[in-house]
Formats: sequence, C-alpha cells, structure tokens
Amino acid sequence: MPSMCCVPNCNGNYKKGPRVSIFCFPRDKVLASQWLRAIKRDNFSPTASSRVCELHFTEDDFRREASATDAQTGIRVTAHTEETRSAS
Ligand SMILES: [Zn+2]
Repeated sequence: MPSMCCVPNCNGNYKKGPRVSIFCFPRDKVLASQWLRAIKRDNFSPTASSRVCELHFTEDDFRREASATDAQTGIRVTAHTEETRSAS
C-alpha cells in the first residue's frame, strides 16, 4: 500500500483519493522548512515516513530535483537538488 500524503486536506493516495506519486521530505533542513511552510500544517514535524504527493509541486519544481527509487517501497522518490542556473 502506498504512503499517503501528509498535507492537510489532501487525499493523495487515500482510499478515496487519487493515486499519486509521493516524495520524502528533503534531508536538507532549509529545504525541509520550506516544504513545511508550503504545506501549512501546524505543529507538525516530518518523520521518516512523512510524504508529500505530486499535487503540491509544479513542473518547475521537478526540474530542480533528482530522482531515485526507494529501495524499501519500490516507489520512485524525488529530492530537491541545489538550484542551478542553466546556460541555455
Ligand atoms: Zn498531497
């Protein structure tokens, strides 16, 4: 069973919700706090099992991320990479 989205009012991967890709919180503390601010969930600290689904990202976000497959779940997860400016 896929992990469910931890964002308030989101039913990503819940029984009646949409089937979505999910992402772990970044290990980088600065990025993690940006995610926390973005999801607007009070008194919440992400754990190793906290996930955010694809509905909270834009195309642009994905371009700045690196993907890997989670060995435990077999789910493809994505983490933010440092922002780089492309020459083109
Ligand atoms: Zn979600």
